[in-house]
Amino acid sequence: MQIINGKTGWVEVICGPMFSGKSEELIKRIRRAQIARRRVQIFKHGIDARYDATSIVSHSQQSIPGIAVTDVKDILELVDDRTELVAIDEGQFFSDEIIDVVNKLGNQGKRVIVAGLDLDYKGNPFGPMPQLMCTAEYVSKQLAICMICGDPANFTQRLTPSTDQIVVGASETYEARCRRHFEPT
Ligand code: ADP
Repeated sequence: MQIINGKTGWVEVICGPMFSGKSEELIKRIRRAQIARRRVQIFKHGIDARYDATSIVSHSQQSIPGIAVTDVKDILELVDDRTELVAIDEGQFFSDEIIDVVNKLGNQGKRVIVAGLDLDYKGNPFGPMPQLMCTAEYVSKQLAICMICGDPANFTQRLTPSTDQIVVGASETYEARCRRHFEPT
């Protein structure tokens, strides 16, 4: 990835289905910034307490401590002027205000990374993710492995009957599927 040098901020989006390694990739980028002694602040949506109330935790049990917020405007209040990298996990759960917040932080000269599901369980764009992907300088789309055939998987199959867009769960509730085996419910 070509990284902009100087005082310009920028936005990176890491997207894809569940189990595609978004959290692992986010944690990797955060760790590398910390090795470079950059000032980092890490946020996740408060709704996601699957493994830990505040830490970002991947399905492979990697974790990094963060702050849980539900109102995205709180991030603007909590970010220190000196912070160089702002990382946000589960971007799809935030309101559309996240687009403004992320662009404000980027315009202040910060590097901002948002990880999130690009599609919901019906295969439709999820919350603010499409707009975030359009305004970001860098977009990384990750794929998981289809649990039926082993091909690359772009979709998140819900395994329970609920029709709410947001049902927080892990492998007991969702699995990754390719386009051939994804069955929107
Ligand atoms: P995401 O944040 O996209 O949900 P994570 O980073 O939390 O993904 O987890 C990725 C890890 O999940 C993989 O490295 C692997 O260990 C595990 N995993 C479990 N099921 C799958 C799958 N179907 N495809 C790929 N990885 C999977």
